[in-house]
Amino acid sequence: MNVVPLHACNDGEGAVPLTGAGNWTWLIPGRVPTLIDAGVGLPRHLDALESALRGVRLANVLVTHGHSDHASGAAAVAVRMPEVRFLKMPWPERDHRWPVSWERIGDGDRIEAGEGALTAIHTPGHAPDHLCFWDARSRTLFGGDLLIDGSSVSIPATRGGDLGAYLASLERVLALDPVRVLPAHGRVIDRPAVLLRASIARRRERERQILELLAPGAIDLDAIVTRLYAGLRESLVPHARDTVLAHLLKLERERRAARDGEAWHIMEP
Ligand SMILES: [Zn+2]
Repeated sequence: MNVVPLHACNDGEGAVPLTGAGNWTWLIPGRVPTLIDAGVGLPRHLDALESALRGVRLANVLVTHGHSDHASGAAAVAVRMPEVRFLKMPWPERDHRWPVSWERIGDGDRIEAGEGALTAIHTPGHAPDHLCFWDARSRTLFGGDLLIDGSSVSIPATRGGDLGAYLASLERVLALDPVRVLPAHGRVIDRPAVLLRASIARRRERERQILELLAPGAIDLDAIVTRLYAGLRESLVPHARDTVLAHLLKLERERRAARDGEAWHIMEP
């Protein structure tokens, strides 16, 4: 499959800490020219998109999820390219922020792209509406924020993140056995199974550490964060807090932990 990486150019000043070096979007040229993710609408990104299209009209923008660094650029794309269709899985609390008319797609949908077709794979966890796009012929997965090489994906428990769902999504993608993952952040992932297994193992290890901290008696969320992330940069503390909360909520759902007000404790089997 022919794919052109186009950086969203959002790595400069004002980039939020979690997007780091900014976002990749992916152009699939061919019969149905398709862009994976919209970026943030910066003119330099749109210029690069136009020149990569070489005068051909872009047909579709498939958006992996409703976070602003993936979806907010849709409005600017729509202004420059009024015929483009925008497709994503609905996230009603979010989608109204991006004023284009979204066409609804969901798990298992087959969407023509380039010279072939992609299948939408619902992979919630990082966000409830998260889709990956699978090209079965080349065994390539457009991964969105499912996997980042060298960094752990945020699971924002207070904003739609769900760790149990995330682990199930990783397992599901592992079962697809992709040969490469084209992510929205960071390097292309050429041996995805290695990173998928490592990500699952890292979350399991984190869970074990949290259970260990809960074992001696009740402990509150902030104390767990302090113990697990000693010396963390102040700006990243809310993110760490949300990640730990995601673990606790997973354990609570599995009836392995419970809370009394602010204090968390282990549930005996
Ligand atoms: Zn995201």
